[in-house]
Amino acid sequence: MATRCYLFRQEHFPPKAAFPAVDGHNHLWDNWNVEELLKVMEAVGIICYCDLTANVNISWREGGYSIGRRRIEDFFENCVAQYPDKFYCFTAATFAAPTDKPLFEDSQKFVDETLELLNRHVKMGARGLKILKELGLHYKDASGKLIRTDDDRLAPIWEEAGKLGIPVLMHQSDPSGFFEPMTPENEHYESLKKYPSWSFADPKFPRKAELLKRRDNLIRRHPKTTFILAHVANFAENLPYVSRLLDENPNVYIDFSARMDELGRQPYTARKLFIRHQDRILFGTDMPASVEMYRCHFRFLETFDENFIPPDYDGTFGRYRWKISGIGLPKEVLKKIYHQNALEIIPGLKEDLKNSI
Ligand SMILES: [Zn+2]
Repeated sequence: MATRCYLFRQEHFPPKAAFPAVDGHNHLWDNWNVEELLKVMEAVGIICYCDLTANVNISWREGGYSIGRRRIEDFFENCVAQYPDKFYCFTAATFAAPTDKPLFEDSQKFVDETLELLNRHVKMGARGLKILKELGLHYKDASGKLIRTDDDRLAPIWEEAGKLGIPVLMHQSDPSGFFEPMTPENEHYESLKKYPSWSFADPKFPRKAELLKRRDNLIRRHPKTTFILAHVANFAENLPYVSRLLDENPNVYIDFSARMDELGRQPYTARKLFIRHQDRILFGTDMPASVEMYRCHFRFLETFDENFIPPDYDGTFGRYRWKISGIGLPKEVLKKIYHQNALEIIPGLKEDLKNSI
């Protein structure tokens, strides 16, 4: 968009988060150059950073990626041992798997292996289980049938997470536009053109409503397990639905990573959601770390600035769908979102951060 904006605006750029902040949704992949990351964290007041995919290997291919497994030990050696209390991780356990092969031949064996690996990773220090969006969308069983997220064969895994006292962070579904035809009318047209593998318009994929329904069945069936539903439960286009989901399910939390754009285009409704559910929302960005990226999040949460450009999914500011406004949250709400809620549900975090908060 090349037009210039002549609006006189209030502009505030909080240099640091109003309270020490935990980035509860991010990914290091195998980038162990954490010195640079730590400098950014220090500059903006991020005291702790979560690598959600510590045992996942992603190899990027044209227009997409393929998933595999890697040593979770690398995370502990390169991050936790070097910089205690600055990092924690989740594991995807056996779900760190390619989509072009069946996820399992024998479901019982798969569940046993998952429980074993999950327990091993938790013993090593992993703080939660991460479920990638591929479950429900891509993974098939040996008969070639799509495995639904609420498939009963997987139920022991969610129960085990509850017993271990670790949260399950799930990414299910995606922005609504990703399920609509890739035409210039699609509000995500530019992103989809750049990353065609993000499109699930093809009817071979389940529809968005179906994916959310299955996920919601799952969280209702396992009330003793804590679920963090990433990206505003992946329905930031429908905040009344998200609010209801939180009202009805006390075991559910959300993060708002990569959805500041959606929230900031409906700032009145978003502000209401954040205030009503102030105990259930976690800070997270899911974007490559940069000072500008983090400061824009603080501007959104802390100020009433209007009509400013949010970072895109890749953390850059060049491409944007619309401008956003801040939601000026009260101090006590900010404190919960920046760190208090994370301390409540991430095991060990209270102890780790007791000297930095
Ligand atoms: Zn993510």
